[in-house]
Amino acid sequence: MIASDIRSGVERLGDMIAEASIIVPFTGAGISTESGIPDFRSPGGLWTRNRPIPFDEFVANRDARDEAWRRRFAMEPTFAAARPGRGHRALASLYRAGKTPAIITQNIDNLHQASGFKADDVIELHGNTTFARCIGCGQAYGLPWVRERFEESGSAPDCTVCDEPVKTATISFGQAMPEDAMRRATELAQECDLFLAIGSSLVVWPAAGFPLMAKRSGAKLVIINNEPTEQDDIADLVIRHDIGETLGPFVGN
Ligand code: NAD
Repeated sequence: MIASDIRSGVERLGDMIAEASIIVPFTGAGISTESGIPDFRSPGGLWTRNRPIPFDEFVANRDARDEAWRRRFAMEPTFAAARPGRGHRALASLYRAGKTPAIITQNIDNLHQASGFKADDVIELHGNTTFARCIGCGQAYGLPWVRERFEESGSAPDCTVCDEPVKTATISFGQAMPEDAMRRATELAQECDLFLAIGSSLVVWPAAGFPLMAKRSGAKLVIINNEPTEQDDIADLVIRHDIGETLGPFVGN
């Protein structure tokens, strides 16, 4: 059912939250646009400006690695300045109230942690861009460490332990999904009775399978997104409005 206007959508959402025992939010880039981080697919989004660099290209090609790091450094002022928006804060309020055991996110911006979720309770399907890892041995590196070496040599550094390339701790197209995060997200989707898909175009798989999985496991499904998605037809409630405005009333509850 598509909410006819934002007021009735918020009211219905409030009832569904009150009736639910286990609420699992699932977020995409749309929840962070209010925080100043562009999404992928909106006009002016990252996709329209930069073709993503697939994982095999990153591994095979030093120029691709250097380009990936140049783009990441160019985004640093945006990521560093971003603060949780109303959507993040509303979900953190649900978490504090005890009905939300954890959150599943496609986002890589660390804003759910910044809003009050414990790091262990943020299931990051696509990793985290606020630090780096060796793609061979998994050794973690801070971004300043990478940047210093990049600026000294003009090229992205390799791991000091095993010599493999160092990459932001994110999952690129063509890279294997993180097993533990996929397992935990599956459990959460199957055990919840209310699943909130927020700010995702639901076109990136396998992540987009989780709303469907929750619905098939018996949960009610709410989709909050300002554009239609392919799963609107199976949702119990679709709120096609701005996320900050929709979730603002739930901040602090
Ligand atoms: P997407 O860009 O495909 O979809 C975002 C959706 O949110 C769009 O449909 C857009 O219309 C909607 N939206 C944007 N702002 C909104 C607002 N204020 N209110 C309501 N709706 C709004 O994003 P996705 O589905 O998350 O997939 C893109 C992939 O890109 C993700 O896997 C993620 O890893 C990555 N990504 C992450 C970030 C981030 O961490 N903030 C930013 C860009 C891309």
